Amino acid sequence: MKPFHLFVLAALVAFGCNGPLVGNPQPAVESIDFAIAIHGGAGTIDRDMDPDLERAYREALEDALRFGYGLLEQDSTSLDVVEQVVRRLEDDELFNAGKGAVFTHEGTNELDAAIMDGATRGCGAVTGVTTVKNPISLARTVMEASPHVFFTGSGAEAFAERMGLERVDPEYFFTQRRWDSLQKILKREEGTVSETGKHGTVGCVALDRSGHLAAATSTGGLTNKRFGRVGDVPVIGAGTYADDATAAISCTGHGEQFIRNTVASRVSAMMEYKGLTLDEAARVVISKVLGPGDGGLIAVGRDGAIALEFNTEGMYRGAADSSGRFEVAIWE
Ligand code: ASP
Repeated sequence: MKPFHLFVLAALVAFGCNGPLVGNPQPAVESIDFAIAIHGGAGTIDRDMDPDLERAYREALEDALRFGYGLLEQDSTSLDVVEQVVRRLEDDELFNAGKGAVFTHEGTNELDAAIMDGATRGCGAVTGVTTVKNPISLARTVMEASPHVFFTGSGAEAFAERMGLERVDPEYFFTQRRWDSLQKILKREEGTVSETGKHGTVGCVALDRSGHLAAATSTGGLTNKRFGRVGDVPVIGAGTYADDATAAISCTGHGEQFIRNTVASRVSAMMEYKGLTLDEAARVVISKVLGPGDGGLIAVGRDGAIALEFNTEGMYRGAADSSGRFEVAIWE
């Protein structure tokens, strides 16, 4: 053996293959038992928002996050948690889902929702629903009580009726704020679909103590959307996806772009086939696959890592995990 090779061998024995064991030791990776992330939509969120409204958004996000965190702490399944958290956000008229949904061009509220179980890759979705109080629960019922995955309009309503889900008069979904948004767009007569990129879809992803992942997303879609338009939210793989092998993902933004780019399943595929971390995959998809202003996503990985990525001005969001992380944010 030449002296140089002896030197290299000695160095490897002394320092190990990863370099000298001096300097900056890597912090131990904290193991995460459970984790949760939520969103309340991404878009052009006015930084000069009325302070009371901003406070209301932050409180609603915190409340939903704490609720979901508490359920996970008490050993609820990720599937139960994402459904329950999204129901809560659907009932809050601040968000564009359930009560508070945006209006279609015709002045109606047509709701979309999807849920996916990472353990089985079972999923359920509904679109164009007008009388079901909590569309996310209908999506879960589709997954669990039908041989199908996706129901539309009157078929979804009939299924809801048969399964005894809570129904409401379509008037229940009316809110003045969303009505005014539609009137503003109609007056502009530009034929644009959404009001200056303002969204408000809700979503939740979670990892439970058993290592199972789940994702749920619910929306009224885009203000001024045309008759029969379906967005990404109920399209499995576009706006919603979960697989225990990789991550659970829920998206928000310009739905057509998320469908074209199969955003949610693309994040999972990049992890599975390219070996990217969740953070890397989410960043590539949001900053390279999508265009500026298209939207954002929340995701939780099988190891409890959380990604909150967006290419819009802001995204209502929150994240918490068993290591003590608990945060909500809008722009920052
Ligand atoms: N992605 C939803 C849709 O296009 C809208 C949103 O996220 O705000 O229907």
